[in-house]
Amino acid sequence: MQNLWSETEAKNYTSDLELRVFTSNLLGRSDELVLHGGGNTSVKSIVDGEELLLVKGSGWDLVSIKEEGFAPVKLDILKEMAKLESLSDSDMVKEQKAAMTDTLAPNPSIEAILHAIIPYKFVDHTHADAVVTISNSKNGQELIKQVFPNFLIVPYLMPGFILARDIYRMVEGIDWDSIDGIILHNHGIFTFDNDAKISYDKMIVAVSEAENFLNNNTTIKYNTTQKEYDVENLVKFLEESKGHKIFVNINQSDVALTYSNQEDLNAFASRGVLTPEHIIRTKRKPLVLKQNDVVEKKLAIYKKEYEAYFKKYAKDEIMLNPSPNYVVIENFGVISFGKNQKEADIINDIVSHTMNAVLRADQLGGYLSINEKNSFDMEYWELEQAKLKAK
Ligand SMILES: [Zn+2]
Repeated sequence: MQNLWSETEAKNYTSDLELRVFTSNLLGRSDELVLHGGGNTSVKSIVDGEELLLVKGSGWDLVSIKEEGFAPVKLDILKEMAKLESLSDSDMVKEQKAAMTDTLAPNPSIEAILHAIIPYKFVDHTHADAVVTISNSKNGQELIKQVFPNFLIVPYLMPGFILARDIYRMVEGIDWDSIDGIILHNHGIFTFDNDAKISYDKMIVAVSEAENFLNNNTTIKYNTTQKEYDVENLVKFLEESKGHKIFVNINQSDVALTYSNQEDLNAFASRGVLTPEHIIRTKRKPLVLKQNDVVEKKLAIYKKEYEAYFKKYAKDEIMLNPSPNYVVIENFGVISFGKNQKEADIINDIVSHTMNAVLRADQLGGYLSINEKNSFDMEYWELEQAKLKAK
């Protein structure tokens, strides 16, 4: 992948935070690294004699983040939090907020503690497609080791406090200079350095390694057979089911057609998300329709199955609307829905990247995402619920 660093542009930036903004924007410009609010970055800096972690605030996108998008949090307090045995994510957010030196700044990213315990000035985190494609395959554990021999490799853990706490324990006594970064299985990658450019370069080099591996070991065999479909009828039932007007994004790209032309389509297209936070937008599964399926009937079955999934794992959560957020239609392509066009387009972007990953991971032994229980924990995570409510 392309390294977007520009020496001419970089000359305009001297402070820690200016450089942090610059390389965060560079990461955000590559949609194969992060999509719509994904990923996060930080810089450790001394401000008014105090060591702070300036970390991406929630609600900001890396591509457009500005200085005011970074939350200033006292570094020593974050480091102490990593030592706790347990802490709910909402208490973590409260304590992080209390440790901020500017109460008007946005809430720090939920990965702030993890950023704090990495002992380098600049920390970059993305959900790079190529990395999660390899990780989300049946042989992902071995393949990731093979592609990233110098990385600390962490099994899937729920993002937030648990992830930070467990990594804190894993790295006790580690020689940080001996590792190039961290891979979080089924989630993403971290790189770090005391220099902004080198930390960014390390990300590009690592992700390029993963891309080369995929290019050498997988090829998508396109099948662009295409039939007509009555989209209007589908929208009518979905609006009824969602209880509001919906906007659609119809995807008939070569990848979407190839995806919709697969055998055993329901099982094929229902294997979970590429990186955990996508589930908030897409749900774990789409509605899958064959050409001759009766929409009303299939939609009812989808909702029943969603309710069963909810009941299986719910403790005291409130169920979201059980209707699907996108539909895969045999020999036609993919349709994403939203309350507005922007939301439909965001879901389509996420699904597009996922389809590519699935088609490639299937050639690495089979696509395999996080399990149903972990998906539920993410979909019904208190903090994610709060994020949606704030929109
Ligand atoms: Zn992440």
